[in-house]
Amino acid sequence: MVTVGVLALQGGFAEHLALLRRAADRLSVGRTPSVSVSLTEVRTPEQLAVCDALVLPGGESTTLSLVAAQSGLLEPLREFVKVSKKPVWGTCAGLILLCEQASATKRGGQELIGGLDVKVHRNHFGRQLQSFVQDVDLPFLSHGETERQAPFPAVFIRAPVVDQMLDSRGEQVVEVLARYPSNGGDEDNIVALRQGNVFGTSFHPELTDDVRIHAWWLAQVAGSN
Ligand code: GLN
Repeated sequence: MVTVGVLALQGGFAEHLALLRRAADRLSVGRTPSVSVSLTEVRTPEQLAVCDALVLPGGESTTLSLVAAQSGLLEPLREFVKVSKKPVWGTCAGLILLCEQASATKRGGQELIGGLDVKVHRNHFGRQLQSFVQDVDLPFLSHGETERQAPFPAVFIRAPVVDQMLDSRGEQVVEVLARYPSNGGDEDNIVALRQGNVFGTSFHPELTDDVRIHAWWLAQVAGSN
C-alpha cells in the first residue's frame, strides 16, 4: 500500500485528488500483484506523517506558506522533502514552495520549503487575465517508449518559471524537463524540473482531462515503495 497525500490547505487539491484517483486506477490495470494506492488530504503534521509521497497544489504560495506555518506544518514539510527525501510534486504555487529561493513580492520575502536548488520567478507571465493554455513538449513522458508522446496542454495561471540555478547542495543535480516555449525562445523559462525526489511543474496538469503526468509521477512513487 502506498499512501499519497495532497496538501489541502488552499488551492487546487480536489482536482489533484481526482486525477490521482484516475492515475491510480490505471496503474493497477493488468498488474499482479495490483498496486494499492491510498489517497489522503493533508492538513496536519499527523496526516503528513502517514504519507509516502505528497503533492503540493497550485493556489497562492504566500497564503499556502502562512497557513502551513499556522498549522505547524512548515518544519514537518521541510523534513519530509529534505531529510526523509520522500517523493514530492509541486504545481505552480506548490512548485514555488519547493524552490530554495523565490523572487521577492512587494511586501518582501516569504517562507519556503525548499528542496530544488533554483530560484523561481513568480507571476512570470503576468496577472490572472493573462492566463493561457499552451501545448508543451514533455519528452520525459516518452521515456523508454519508441513513439513520441503528443504535447501536453499546459494551463498557465499567474505561473512562475525557474530562471536561475543555484549551487547544488548534494549529489542530486537539477534536471530540466521542459521549457516554454519548447523550441528556442528564452532559454531560462524552465516549466518542469526534477532534483532527486522533488518534481515541479509551473503549470496545472490537474486542471486538464489529461492524466499522463499524474500517471507518470504515481508510477515512480509506486515503484520506489
Ligand atoms: N502566482 C501564484 C503564487 O505566487 C501561483 C499561481 C498558481 O498557483 N496558479 O503563489
